[in-house]
Amino acid sequence: RVLVGNLIGEDHVNYVLMYNMLTGIRIAVSRCQAKIKRPLTDEDFTARHKFSFDIVGNELTPSAKYDFKFKDYAPWVFRDLREDYFQLDPADYLLSLTAKYILSELGSPGKSGSFFYFSRDYRFIIKTIRHSEHKFLLSILKDYHAHVKNNPHTLLSRFYGLHRVKLPRGRKIHFVIMNNLFPPHKDVHETFDLKGSTVGREYPEEKAQKNPRAVLKDLNWINRDKMLELGPEKRALLTEQLRRDSEFLKKVRVMDYSLLVGIHHVQRGNRDNLRSNTLKVFSPSVPAIRRKNTQLKGSRSPEAIAMRRAMRESDPKRLGAETLDLPEEDTGDRQQFIFYQDEGGIQATNETNEPMDTLYYLGVIDILTPYSGVKKMEHFWKGLSADRHKISPVPPNEYGDRFFAFMKAIMRGGGGGGRFKAE
Ligand code: ATP
Ligand code: CA
Ligand code: CA
Repeated sequence: RVLVGNLIGEDHVNYVLMYNMLTGIRIAVSRCQAKIKRPLTDEDFTARHKFSFDIVGNELTPSAKYDFKFKDYAPWVFRDLREDYFQLDPADYLLSLTAKYILSELGSPGKSGSFFYFSRDYRFIIKTIRHSEHKFLLSILKDYHAHVKNNPHTLLSRFYGLHRVKLPRGRKIHFVIMNNLFPPHKDVHETFDLKGSTVGREYPEEKAQKNPRAVLKDLNWINRDKMLELGPEKRALLTEQLRRDSEFLKKVRVMDYSLLVGIHHVQRGNRDNLRSNTLKVFSPSVPAIRRKNTQLKGSRSPEAIAMRRAMRESDPKRLGAETLDLPEEDTGDRQQFIFYQDEGGIQATNETNEPMDTLYYLGVIDILTPYSGVKKMEHFWKGLSADRHKISPVPPNEYGDRFFAFMKAIMRGGGGGGRFKAE
């Protein structure tokens, strides 16, 4: 299956940033990966590795196209998360993110101002985050690691890396690498971002009819009479995992997160090609890859191996063309996770556990907003004009309880009194 995208050349505003991010990841990750695995220590949680890139290069960092600095935060912790808990193959990870130097950019940035980039194979997302979110992730990293360790089937965003690029004129860009909840091989026909809050949580229906890629919200879900159709076992497992995950989020005092729900209708299949035109391709020159490959000649480092594989796999004639090949088949890389085991998601089932026509792609996203002073103020002001308990910025305990109650209520037979009432 071939998707058409927009080509982003070296003159694109974000091309340099993109190039720097990927070069930094490639060097930093392969440096860490090249060492023999050892148990984590306390220091690993606060460690940061610095790299300085320039066009000349030195014995530590190979030459790059631009001057920039790169910081890798808690590399051993993220390596541990990736390999031991999220079950990523190290070479695969490097290859997906960096080999072809091609990523696509997701539409226009949201209201937070973050940018999203997909890896070439659609498996990973790079999200630029605010400095406050960055500091917050570092501050909860130990708790997050422990939660993931104790909850292998967690629905929380899977963070694979935390990095920073610093451009010559001093601009610092923080970003995380995380899982794309949506699969490369299936169109998502409907998307909902659910918070359990009803105030202002509606995407205009008339616009939604025209735009199948719109991200719908709580009130759209209620007005469309949607239900998560899961048989008793799956429902019990999902409820319990959501309970644990929301308890964790209450404990670390975050709010504003959502359950992202992607729905694929099996009968409808992939004929709508919904992802085409949403993808833009960052394309480097083939010579740049060839040059890198020559530099690393003879080396047996994971980086060099990944680059050689990339070189073999990239047909120079096709590289830089305005198409993306996405697979038709599940790669099966998520099969050990309960909620991601059916085609990368979870298949709907009826009360007697017979499969239904729908696949769900579920996860709890945007989990780095602490209930800070800013949000407290927003709570105060918004609370003056609307019901204090229904607006989205409420304190973490209330937010978490309301979130969990909503998710229980939208599961068929979930004991939430059936339908969620929109008062
Ligand atoms: P805001 O703070 O305004 O909500 P944000 O920039 O923090 O925005 P998110 O809420 O994290 O952005 O995500 C925005 C949208 O991007 C989501 O509603 C979803 O459609 C998509 N998205 C985010 N994370 C993922 C993911 N892991 N997998 C698939 N899609 C995602
Ligand atoms: Ca959000
Ligand atoms: Ca956010």
